Amino acid sequence: MGSVYAPVRVSDQSFAFRSVRDEAEIAFEALRTILPPKKFFYPAKETILECDGDEVKEHIEVVEPFAVFGVHPCDLAGLNALDKIFLSTPQDSHYQRRRRAAFIIGLSCLPDKHCFCKAMKADAPGKGYDLFLTDLEDKYFVQVNNQEAFEFILSCKEFMHLASDQDNQGYKKFWNDRDSMFEHNFDSAQLPNLMDLGWDHPLWQELGERCLSCGNCTPVCPTCYCFDMTDVAMFNSEKVEAERQRVWDSCQFSGFAAVAGGENFRPGPVDRLKFWYRHKLHGFEDPIEIPSCVGCGRCTVSCPSGIDDLPGVIRILAGRPQLNLEGEIA
Ligand code: SF4
Ligand code: SF4
Repeated sequence: MGSVYAPVRVSDQSFAFRSVRDEAEIAFEALRTILPPKKFFYPAKETILECDGDEVKEHIEVVEPFAVFGVHPCDLAGLNALDKIFLSTPQDSHYQRRRRAAFIIGLSCLPDKHCFCKAMKADAPGKGYDLFLTDLEDKYFVQVNNQEAFEFILSCKEFMHLASDQDNQGYKKFWNDRDSMFEHNFDSAQLPNLMDLGWDHPLWQELGERCLSCGNCTPVCPTCYCFDMTDVAMFNSEKVEAERQRVWDSCQFSGFAAVAGGENFRPGPVDRLKFWYRHKLHGFEDPIEIPSCVGCGRCTVSCPSGIDDLPGVIRILAGRPQLNLEGEIA
């Protein structure tokens, strides 16, 4: 096994997935990391093509096996959504190589006030992990998802025992108790309808006027995957070397929808914010049929303007404005 990545504390209030060598480095209490684990599979910048003189060829990175520990259910759901994007035909070989090299160890968590994964049906360990650990306080209940994970378990069986009836009861109690802790509960099946009906709601103008177009909300989102391509050339006396790089982009940036001729399909922050919300709450319905928000709450905590409160926006669109965005929107 190569590198192991896990959440570590990087400030009083924030955590990040980092390479760890010792269990003591791991922040087992971490709820949401600054960036989701998508960064391991779809990095912020990567070389796609390389040009060596006259030859242009695909850049093929050798990816060593690695493990990611501490992936919570919403982030597993985010990876499953990205799988649908990048592993649908034609598959993205760069993403696929990293996905194949990874061993994912999921970990249970308890929600805070920003979590709404339950409403988005992304609150349970469904798939996308190799092992999933549920914290039963004095032990972990381990779910094994495939043969590779089973062989790993066999290699450390001195730390394991078969789940007893009491363990099974403890597992069910944990998930039932956790279920009752969520503050936000709405019917996510209604979101596409709410977004269609609310397309001209004055809320978008109010929120858009407060948006700084900083783009914070997109890199932190487990399902945002928009990118730009840049060509980087290096000249020397003998030949031209160059790379085509894929870099994360954001639909909140003013130039994102700019096209040749000086036109811009979404020139102002109101248009861009509304577009982003639509993508998150209407989802990738056609043709992928999955929601594109997994309710992790990262955009809420990272927005400097305090306008990415998705549950608050949903309540307003649903016609329950008494429960508005912390009283800031009339
Ligand atoms: S839209 Fe916000 S809450 Fe939903 S998955 Fe993205 S970052 Fe998380
Ligand atoms: S993080 Fe907030 S202010 Fe920044 S682009 Fe997103 S919505 Fe706008």
